[in-house]
Amino acid sequence: MRTPSVAVVGGGASGALTAIHLLRLARTSGTPMAVTLLDQHGRHALGQAYATTDPHHLLNTRADRMSAFDGEPDHLLTWARNAGVDVNGSGYLPRALYGRYLREVLTAAEDPPARPLHRVTATAVALDNDHAVRLADGRRVDADAVVLALGNRSPAPVPGLTAHPRYVTDPWAGGALTGIGDGAAVLVLGTGLTMVDVALSVTLRRVARYWEIHRHRIPPASAAAIADLRARGRLRLLRGSLVEAKPAADGLRVRADLDGTMTDLDVGWLVNATGPSADVTTDPFLANLITAGTARPDPLRLGLDATPDGAVLDVAGQPSGRLFALGPLLRGTLYETTAVPEIRAQAAALAPRLVEVATSHAARTQPVA
Ligand SMILES: Cc1cc2nc3c(=O)[nH]c(=O)nc-3n(C[C@H](O)[C@H](O)[C@H](O)COP(=O)(O)OP(=O)(O)OC[C@H]3O[C@@H](n4cnc5c(N)ncnc54)[C@H](O)[C@@H]3O)c2cc1C
Repeated sequence: MRTPSVAVVGGGASGALTAIHLLRLARTSGTPMAVTLLDQHGRHALGQAYATTDPHHLLNTRADRMSAFDGEPDHLLTWARNAGVDVNGSGYLPRALYGRYLREVLTAAEDPPARPLHRVTATAVALDNDHAVRLADGRRVDADAVVLALGNRSPAPVPGLTAHPRYVTDPWAGGALTGIGDGAAVLVLGTGLTMVDVALSVTLRRVARYWEIHRHRIPPASAAAIADLRARGRLRLLRGSLVEAKPAADGLRVRADLDGTMTDLDVGWLVNATGPSADVTTDPFLANLITAGTARPDPLRLGLDATPDGAVLDVAGQPSGRLFALGPLLRGTLYETTAVPEIRAQAAALAPRLVEVATSHAARTQPVA
């Protein structure tokens, strides 16, 4: 029999945890298994959240809840201590360090030649017959089962502005904030955690010291840093909604409705930190799956329609036997599905299903050319 294969599309924490749990299970059960982990940005095991290199971008979850394995709460803590980081369970680690942890755990799960992991940097654009992943560069990845681990969609666009060199459409894109820091005013749209990260990144670099000095109290320290920026007038929070944004001589002119008063703001930079868009049809790959009838949006249009255990539903509502999803894509089905404690449980539950599906499909079919 040929080696069963699984393709995981999306190399963030969801994709990496799927590969980790699948490879570990294949090893303990003595099952050969080839896993391909595809990521369009080459951010394998990092994804959007853990690709940051900024040391004051911290996890918002305690270290003892961020292990890659449900039943091993000390796994991350032990790894961190072995890496020379003094942290206890209630501490908040830098996200970059967590990305390094996931990368190392993924590497440790590889077991070639019986259970190789192929890291491919490419964009998936379509699925042929539910299981051959077509890539934007013309290549194809054949697999007995496919997992969609695409994470969050980019934020919804700002009205009136499609592109501008000083408009940051997605603050999580690699190098997106690099140009900011030239002294020009920055308008951040949104006041959630993304805004906090952006504010800490683009203002006072000495905030980074908070990690070294107060690492066990980082979230309060981050909050204190934000309060400090506000007290000194370096950060202002405005309540209102953006009406439109237009290019102006030295940046952008933004029209906003501030509590009923139309106000024009001249800014050097505009950062879209409004959070992910829920609309899966804005993603070209997912739109292709939906057009082909292979998948459909969930009734609340928060993600893809799927069974609670992640089998993707087709246009007629039939669960696929070989196409699965996990992580933020399941928001419409599970809602609480975006944090590592939830994702690792989904990955662990999916692994035996993937072993079974891929093994039985490989036994029934010849290699696909
Ligand atoms: C800033 C931030 C901080 C966070 N902090 C925490 C935290 O402290 N604790 C916690 O538990 N959770 C946290 N989260 C929640 C986070 O959603 C999860 O922890 C986790 O990172 C989600 O991973 P993911 O793989 O589902 O998504 P992503 O990290 O978005 O990864 C998806 C990957 O798929 C790739 N991709 C998408 N489409 C394609 C395609 N067509 N072809 C190929 N590749 C594709 C993307 O490029 C991306 O790399 C945070 C999230 C953010 C944004």
